Amino acid sequence: MKLSERIITGNRPYVIAGPCSAETEGQVMNVCKDIAFNGSAQMLRAGVWKPRTRPDSFEGVGVNALPWVVNAGKETGLPTTVEVANKLHAEQALKAGIDVIWIGARTTVNPFAVQEIADALSGTDIPVMIKNPVNPDVQLWMGAFERFAKVGLTDLSAIHRGFSVYNHPKYRNVPNWELPILLKENMPEIPIICDPSHITGNRELLFEVCQKAMDLNFEGLMIETHPNPEKAWSDAAQQVTPDGLKAILNGLVLRTPEFSTDVASRLEEIRAEIKTVDDRLFDLLSERMLISESVGVLKRENNITILQQEHWSNLIQNRLDNSESYNLTRKFVRQLMDAIHQESIRHQTAIMNPSKKK
Ligand code: PEP
Ligand code: MN
Repeated sequence: MKLSERIITGNRPYVIAGPCSAETEGQVMNVCKDIAFNGSAQMLRAGVWKPRTRPDSFEGVGVNALPWVVNAGKETGLPTTVEVANKLHAEQALKAGIDVIWIGARTTVNPFAVQEIADALSGTDIPVMIKNPVNPDVQLWMGAFERFAKVGLTDLSAIHRGFSVYNHPKYRNVPNWELPILLKENMPEIPIICDPSHITGNRELLFEVCQKAMDLNFEGLMIETHPNPEKAWSDAAQQVTPDGLKAILNGLVLRTPEFSTDVASRLEEIRAEIKTVDDRLFDLLSERMLISESVGVLKRENNITILQQEHWSNLIQNRLDNSESYNLTRKFVRQLMDAIHQESIRHQTAIMNPSKKK
């Protein structure tokens, strides 16, 4: 069975773990044994060629690290994956016996690089996982899948790792969840694996992003795992230990999109109740605007302006002061009052200046 089918039909989440970078033979072997034997991962990842933002950072051990990854996979029975960024990487990874190839975010943006890698892998049946491009362009992401499919590589999965933005207060790469959802809509046969490590850039935030991915029914997770995260040669702030990985996975609540007919009929009842209340809300709003119109008549007859700022400020203040007792946020109360006020002014304007269009 294809890897992508196994990811879709197997138990959620399908977990890929391992270090950001393969640093030493021992580090790769240790982490692989830990994540395999504590039962948390189904695949080992390790970067051997690292696309770094600035040239003086550690750029990976390169081809010499491939046997470390392959041997760790053999020792534990886990399939292995590395990132390739050009034709030579693809050929070397294949030759070394890596099981699955992944395309990094900085490569997906470049159709020439994607095409070159697709051509280099053509004729094999190696599974390929494609990270989203760094920019939020779902067409470009889809185009990369099409380039692989066109050369006969059809065992394809997606990795959602978020999108670059300047100076985000919380995330390293913003998730823009609507984009992977759009990919799913267009290419439903492609499983989506969320990479919370590169989205958050911060191990403290991994859990909430993993939970969100599960609640959106993503099929898998790719989580950077290192024996000693603080000392990692790349992405130190976002990596977790094998125990940390296990704890995250154990904490996840897995919900399902399906529900029984019992639940469906209860859901329908509650939705009917909500509709009745909404009907009342709209009848009330309509009644409220009729009253605004009578105010408009009175103001017209007495030549008073529509807006009495102080009166309006008091009205809003009163509702805001009570927002807690309504169990509504102040923000919502403010937005609702502003919307009602705007509509009321529109009604009064029509009454006071009858020749003007509404
Ligand atoms: C990585 O997985 O270590 C990596 C370089 O990721 P990305 O391509 O998402 O930046
Ligand atoms: Mn990384």
